[in-house]
Amino acid sequence: MTNCWFETRKECPACGSAAFQIIYEAEYDRPPIKDYLNDFYSGRVEFDYLEGAVYILCECDVCGMIFQRDIPNKTLMERLYDHWINSKESFKEHQESTGLDYYSCYVKEIMQIISYFNEKPFRLNFLDFGMGWGNWALMAKAFGCEVYGVELSKECIAHAQSNGIKVISWDEIHQYRFDFINTEQVFEHISEPLNTLKYLRMALKPNGMIKVSVPTANDIDRRLKIMDWTSPKGSPNSLNPVAPLEHINFFRRSSLIKMAEVAQMEEVYIPILKQYQYTTGWSGIRNIAKNIILPIYRNVLKKQNYIFLRNVGHKS
Ligand SMILES: [Zn+2]
Repeated sequence: MTNCWFETRKECPACGSAAFQIIYEAEYDRPPIKDYLNDFYSGRVEFDYLEGAVYILCECDVCGMIFQRDIPNKTLMERLYDHWINSKESFKEHQESTGLDYYSCYVKEIMQIISYFNEKPFRLNFLDFGMGWGNWALMAKAFGCEVYGVELSKECIAHAQSNGIKVISWDEIHQYRFDFINTEQVFEHISEPLNTLKYLRMALKPNGMIKVSVPTANDIDRRLKIMDWTSPKGSPNSLNPVAPLEHINFFRRSSLIKMAEVAQMEEVYIPILKQYQYTTGWSGIRNIAKNIILPIYRNVLKKQNYIFLRNVGHKS
């Protein structure tokens, strides 16, 4: 590794094991990765930062986690998230892509969480870790919960604050105690997911819980055999779950559970009946079928990378 904008991970970022294998390698500044990046970031990638660097995908022998070994350092992360990604454009895209269904999912989830705690909303302290534009936080606030957000993007922070969300820094997290910490599509992006989970769990109330929701691709092994960088996001062969530089961690469900175990946490379920009770959006056969299947898919079949964790030894 001669590129100074990258750092090399020497352990599995989910379970800490040093036993892992390289399963794929390709240089960043050559096709197919170069073409993928040009397309994905609409030509905004500054390839000088990527010269000589290699996209190296590894698989952990212990928990099955698939992760990028060499990841952008802080400076390159900032270039990526503040410059290669255009915040104005992404906000516009976000607004255009968020309809009633999007907000209805938040409503549903927040009602299920409040009902799990069986407490008046104003007594509940929530943290949205990596809150983005702050929509989830705002929705929880509408129910009367005390809501805080953590976020790196200055534009996102300003937007959330303009909507009355209290934004705190990483260092301030431990000054608070939360009933619930939300992490939605965050853990796949961060350099040290295990250490982050250990850090966050210390800010929980005794009965508190953390949600970890990351991309699900139960057929990832099939996709990695085909390795088609031209497949669009959302298509069956898409490699977005292991997107270079951004999705630096791909969790199998077993990796999430192992990470929780190492962090001295355990899975906790929102009872299926409570999930049904607060499920909205019953119009049409498709929605009805989805609403009936989803709690079973999550709690019984355990097929989704969407889990709730609490500290071991602090049972409700
Ligand atoms: Zn591992």
